[in-house]
Amino acid sequence: MWNTNNMGNKLKHIGVLTSGGDAPGMNAAIRAVVRACTHYNIKVSGISEGYQGLIDNELRGMDARSVAHIINRGGTILKSARCQNFRTKEGRQKAHENLKKNNIDALVVIGGDGSFTGASIFSSEFNIPVIGVPGTIDNDIYGTDFTIGYDTALNCVVEAMDRIRDTATSHNRLFFIECMGRDSGFIALNAGIAGGATEILIPEDNKSIDDLVDKLKSSRASNKTSNIVLVAEGDQLGDTFKLAEKTEKLLPEYSIRVSVLGHIQRGGNPSCADRVLASRLGVSAVEQLLAGHSGIMVGVQNSSVTTVSLHDAISRKPGIDTDLVHVADIVSL
Ligand code: ADP
Repeated sequence: MWNTNNMGNKLKHIGVLTSGGDAPGMNAAIRAVVRACTHYNIKVSGISEGYQGLIDNELRGMDARSVAHIINRGGTILKSARCQNFRTKEGRQKAHENLKKNNIDALVVIGGDGSFTGASIFSSEFNIPVIGVPGTIDNDIYGTDFTIGYDTALNCVVEAMDRIRDTATSHNRLFFIECMGRDSGFIALNAGIAGGATEILIPEDNKSIDDLVDKLKSSRASNKTSNIVLVAEGDQLGDTFKLAEKTEKLLPEYSIRVSVLGHIQRGGNPSCADRVLASRLGVSAVEQLLAGHSGIMVGVQNSSVTTVSLHDAISRKPGIDTDLVHVADIVSL
């Protein structure tokens, strides 16, 4: 029964931090961790700016009221940072000293695979229990169907595509829209289907510029007068502006415009799906620690909360859904 601190009071104080790239819903995850700790009578401290705050001893005690009015806010109230110092043994040693000084027994790390790598090394070096909560808009973490922030980012890209489509249709134009996805095409593939892209270019595929041109030619032949090509930033055809230039040379009848969505995709109020996901994973992270687990990431698979080793979460990559690629090919005619 989850109604008491059932570790015989062994676990008394949890630290929570957000690290790496921010993602909408991180606040909802912090809130869930803090409120789960309150529920189970455990002290909880928020650590500022990821691992940097651990090294600088920037911690503050939190309670149910310190996370009021944040479920709807993007970003992270704890702030996030990329901390080079934590990559060194000395940096992690300092972080450990501060944990000991503050009597913190365990950590919840909300972030991406880089943050989990740091957490995993730290946990092994100093025998500190850690649980990872996947927070990144890219959805590129093995062991969860969805990461916190992904759904919000998708909706942002689709909304941008809808807006750009108005101009594309009014002027019979071809737009190249670049979305986030340096190493993975989850955002591009899903938003591309939802936003009605004629072509979707993702890092996982090996489409050539000739394939792209053929697709655009056949689209024109079927009397399509405006098109959107959605390009993940890590697509193998390279820089989106140069790709647009090359395409325009091969298809001079098209007037091409490029729109790079950039950081607007990372901000904004989290969607309902992200708030619920973050709440489930935040509570689960605390419960996993209470059950004596460590070195794992909580995630959601087939609608249920599950766990995977941090090792797998870091070292394995979720594959792109080939069924979705098939659907995208059919509906983009
Ligand atoms: P994300 O968690 O979004 O993937 P990063 O890759 O930038 O973001 O990682 C966030 C932080 O995690 C880094 O700034 C660093 O402090 C820590 N980190 C990443 N890799 C390591 C590592 N190999 N050893 C120790 N710390 C690491």
